Amino acid sequence: MTVPKAEVERRVRRFVETCRRSGLKVTHQRTEVFRELAGREDHPAAETVYREVRRRLPSISRDTVYRTLALLQAQGLIRKTQVLRNEGRYDANAEPHHHFVCTVCGRIEDFESPALDELPLPPSVRALGSVQSAHVQVRGTCSACAGREARGGRDGKTEQGEAVALGGRVMTLERKGDRDE
Ligand SMILES: [Zn+2]
Ligand SMILES: [Zn+2]
Repeated sequence: MTVPKAEVERRVRRFVETCRRSGLKVTHQRTEVFRELAGREDHPAAETVYREVRRRLPSISRDTVYRTLALLQAQGLIRKTQVLRNEGRYDANAEPHHHFVCTVCGRIEDFESPALDELPLPPSVRALGSVQSAHVQVRGTCSACAGREARGGRDGKTEQGEAVALGGRVMTLERKGDRDE
């Protein structure tokens, strides 16, 4: 669940440079909120970011953390990648990547796929508007939850995967029995 230290530092450096270029003040609090996000792979909710940043900066308020996340998102420094159970989840991974979402525990994992990066979008997407980026979201049951289900005596049911390309339409892909064991 943690990003290698060198990668965190690289993300923070890029964050500082991007802020400077766009005239956004690089405050200690903003940097710490970003650093918390940059060090995690679990796409945390704002409340989790607040809880963790407060350990290092006890004086930071919940309001500041929430506003900082919204600001960084508006500046394109982080992405709100997913809303699960009415809760926005944030992502500081700026490299092209896709998401596996566990519909049982809400865990969101990154994965890379050059083939999916090249996914041809149908013309109907362009009719809807201009496309900035696209990513695929695969939904299913993570192996930890699948293990719990199996131990609970239920057999592995066929999973239905769903892929969503952002910036346009929703596509549904049927994926039967391709779950990693
Ligand atoms: Zn899960
Ligand atoms: Zn991600």
